[in-house]
Amino acid sequence: FPPKPFSLEDLLKQMCYLVRAEASDARVTITTSLPDDLPRVVANRVQIAQVLINLLRNAIEAMATQPDAAPREIGIAASASEEFVTVCVTDSGPGIAPDLNLFAEFETTKAGGMGLGLSICRSIAGNNGGSLWLDDSVSRGARFCFTIPVYQPKV
Ligand code: ADP
Ligand code: MG
Repeated sequence: FPPKPFSLEDLLKQMCYLVRAEASDARVTITTSLPDDLPRVVANRVQIAQVLINLLRNAIEAMATQPDAAPREIGIAASASEEFVTVCVTDSGPGIAPDLNLFAEFETTKAGGMGLGLSICRSIAGNNGGSLWLDDSVSRGARFCFTIPVYQPKV
């Protein structure tokens, strides 16, 4: 699967649709906020789908263990510069456990967890010309962001 241009908006819609059952079982709502003129990106589409699934699942899993009254929201936001589209996935869960080496392989706090999700996400973003990080500007919950190169059509 070589990198190809695709619409991130379409991919995000598809991913929200795919996780809808997991999200509704955990009573999580997902809201997407994208600019109208989001440019196409160039990457391996199926790998970016994997990144989104991993981030969405982590967010759902983090909120599923919270008390009933706690808010359970995921926000997906995207923005574009000349070179990159940045996608951020923000949840209203408990946030990241202190001293966790998040991006290390096999690092997990889950009983049945493998701890591979985030290290896979980070290598996919890197292999596709972008990067992926934990954005610690949120006061509660967790926010992960990644970039993908904007498709630059040759004129
Ligand atoms: P796994 O999901 O198998 O545990 P990951 O690499 O996907 O492995 O995540 C590693 C760890 O990072 C998780 O076990 C969890 O402790 C923490 N984590 C990841 N995403 C979130 C999140 N959205 N909120 C809170 N903690 C998170
Ligand atoms: Mg995971």
